[in-house]
Amino acid sequence: MASLLKSITACFVTFIPDRIEEEILYISKEYNTATHLCVCGCGERVVTPLNHMNWTLIMDEGKPTLTPSIGSFSLPCKSHYFIRDGKIIDA
Ligand SMILES: [Zn+2]
Repeated sequence: MASLLKSITACFVTFIPDRIEEEILYISKEYNTATHLCVCGCGERVVTPLNHMNWTLIMDEGKPTLTPSIGSFSLPCKSHYFIRDGKIIDA
């Protein structure tokens, strides 16, 4: 499914909130994790642990890049996309 959302903004928090909003990448440096709502609009949470086994977060002028890509193959939508410089790019 193509991504509905085209951009995402970083928001630094200690704890990931229970209610999260679209277009925001919640980042907890304390817990080395990030969470956002799937960009297809399905409303599922996508958790991306930040460590050498999982994802790397680079912030450049306030814009997040996550590597590698995000493939939510366990979700019904099976979304696959990149977050690069705060933009959503379909894989
Ligand atoms: Zn989705």
